[in-house]
Amino acid sequence: MKIIGLTGGIGTGKSTVSEYLNKKGCVIIDADAISRAMTDRGAPALKEIEKTFGKKYISADGSLDRKALGDLVFGNKEKLEALQKIITEKVIEEINDRICQMKEEGSDKTVIIDAPLLFECGMEGIADENWLVTADTKVRLLRVSKRDNLSEEQIMARIENQMPDAEKIRRSRCVIDNSAGLERLYEQIDLQLERIENER
Ligand code: ATP
Repeated sequence: MKIIGLTGGIGTGKSTVSEYLNKKGCVIIDADAISRAMTDRGAPALKEIEKTFGKKYISADGSLDRKALGDLVFGNKEKLEALQKIITEKVIEEINDRICQMKEEGSDKTVIIDAPLLFECGMEGIADENWLVTADTKVRLLRVSKRDNLSEEQIMARIENQMPDAEKIRRSRCVIDNSAGLERLYEQIDLQLERIENER
């Protein structure tokens, strides 16, 4: 089984790459979806949140009081980091559990850990190798402004708030440049899939 970490900044096309890899038969582990599920009612992170921040952030029905917790961590770096740490640990645990289960079942599939914050959250070590999706800034601005209701300034602020691509490139085994059309994108992915198939 081969495990690949897939990441990319806003509007680079990471989700498009992930969808294509899924069509090609890879198993996708969506770190963002797991992260959201971690704070659902009865989810593992809730106990930790209660222990760290207090009972009042858990509603009577056992669900997270997102508004109250949001108010608490907003603008408080220390508390925000404590919350992120709890959730990240649980997400990594869940990803490792899923991988372990697939290994036990003898799966020989390629597994993609689709994670926008792969490097920032310390998930890069889970994978055998990490792939980065990039695109020219102009192209990213155009794609995101078409998709979301954001101004160029707002998108630029988000790009600049993320880890610089140069740093991500340094940590990646391969870089997929999605500045051109889909055909060119799929060609690059096919080449990488072929490479890892030959390395098996
Ligand atoms: P985010 O992190 O912001 O959610 P992302 O990196 O996952 O974004 P996508 O959602 O895959 O990016 O792509 C952003 C937009 O650009 C989408 O509307 C997608 O359909 C479009 N897109 C992606 N790649 C291409 C391409 N090669 N040619 C044309 N459009 C593209």
